[in-house]
Amino acid sequence: MGKRKKILLSESDMPTHWYNINADLPAAGIQLPPPLHPGTGQPIGPADLSPLFPMALILQEVSQDRYIEIPDEVQDVYRIWRPSPLIRAYEWEKALGTPAKIYYKYEGGSPSGSHKPNTAVPQAYYNMKEGVKRLSTETGAGQWGSALSFACQMFGLECKVYMVKVSYEQKPYRKVMMQTWGAQVVPSPSPDTNAGRAILAQNPDSTGSLGIAISEAVEDAVMREDTKYALGSVLNHVLLHQTVIGQEAIKQLEIAGADWPDVVVACTGGGSNFGGIAFPFVRENVTGGKQTRIVAVEPSAAPSLTRGIYAYDYGDTAKMAPMVKMHTLGHDFVPAPIHAGGLRYHGMSAQVSALKEAGLIEAVNVQQGAIFQAALSFTKAEGILPAPEPSHAIWGAMQEALKCKESGESKTIVFNMCGHGHFDLGAYEAYMANSLPDFDYPEEAIQRSLQALPTVG
Ligand SMILES: *Cc1c(COP(=O)(O)O)cnc(C)c1O
Repeated sequence: MGKRKKILLSESDMPTHWYNINADLPAAGIQLPPPLHPGTGQPIGPADLSPLFPMALILQEVSQDRYIEIPDEVQDVYRIWRPSPLIRAYEWEKALGTPAKIYYKYEGGSPSGSHKPNTAVPQAYYNMKEGVKRLSTETGAGQWGSALSFACQMFGLECKVYMVKVSYEQKPYRKVMMQTWGAQVVPSPSPDTNAGRAILAQNPDSTGSLGIAISEAVEDAVMREDTKYALGSVLNHVLLHQTVIGQEAIKQLEIAGADWPDVVVACTGGGSNFGGIAFPFVRENVTGGKQTRIVAVEPSAAPSLTRGIYAYDYGDTAKMAPMVKMHTLGHDFVPAPIHAGGLRYHGMSAQVSALKEAGLIEAVNVQQGAIFQAALSFTKAEGILPAPEPSHAIWGAMQEALKCKESGESKTIVFNMCGHGHFDLGAYEAYMANSLPDFDYPEEAIQRSLQALPTVG
């Protein structure tokens, strides 16, 4: 038998529980600051969130239980694509000339092509269980809208997606994908909400933004008895659901007879795929005496972990979402139009931010030219075409592999390949035509946005 390329788990080895890092934060000396009400500045309680989310998810948001059982109905849907493969990047190692051993967890095999269904499916399930008939959400690049449309279809819910208008026009096939799962997709700003109508009255040609689309989706949910809202990243319950990734990876590394990883790398937008692969390894660092370095890679155009400050800020431009203590660039930060649309958020998960502040994880930022170079080096050797977002993780893994080449060390590197790039070929086309600009976010602009941070007592 030749070398083992893919390490596959059987369906019976799929995790039956999600791992909740809240349980182990105290052992790491971390107390997570509570989210605050955007109007009153007081800590929010379950009642504040109940117009938006079903109670099961609100309770997961604040749970301190180390493990939370994955309902059978959710596991049944997960089995469409889970367990996902862990793949050894032999050919890429050879191409890089590194003695490092590189493994990647491939989440691009899900129905919508990224890690996002790992949370969309349980979110749709818990809403269905509590009698909700319809979910509203926003989507930028279309990954989250696709995942939620799929999940709603699996549990018989209607789904309304407010898609940022510029993406709606640039990525028509993401919209068609959502429609195949029965979702209603409108370009945002839309005439369907007060928030959308107000923007259109001012500027009929508005190309929209994630902030506007969030306001529309939240208004939709608050105004209708039968509807709740769903968010695809940032919140504790979202990162919780994603921990199937890291738990599977640990089992797969054992099966492969791999050394315990020296470094785990993932990209960060709001922190969900990063938390998903990294938290089970953080657990082993905190409670199991392991010493894995854990590296978040973000774009230079939206460098919240590396250049933002750790402070309370609003989750959205319209100041409707709770204030969260996180690494932020300011809620009115407007990111440059880089192709990694999933990484253009001003803030970061509270859990990921607290780990960074405590020195338990590292973060670096990188320009988009470098990530496409890394992506092409990877795809030429390994064949799989990554989305621009995981190409940040690929770049991060490549830096570690090249350090090993220099030092001669044979370290074990694991990264999260959180989605394929089949809807991102326009970006590859532009890169290969040599026309991708780099963006450094100017320090003055960051300072200006940070001046609008709320003052919290
Ligand atoms: C949404 C998305 C991201 C960014 O979100 P995180 O919550 O930081 O994971 C990254 N990669 C892909 C493929 C995405 O769809």
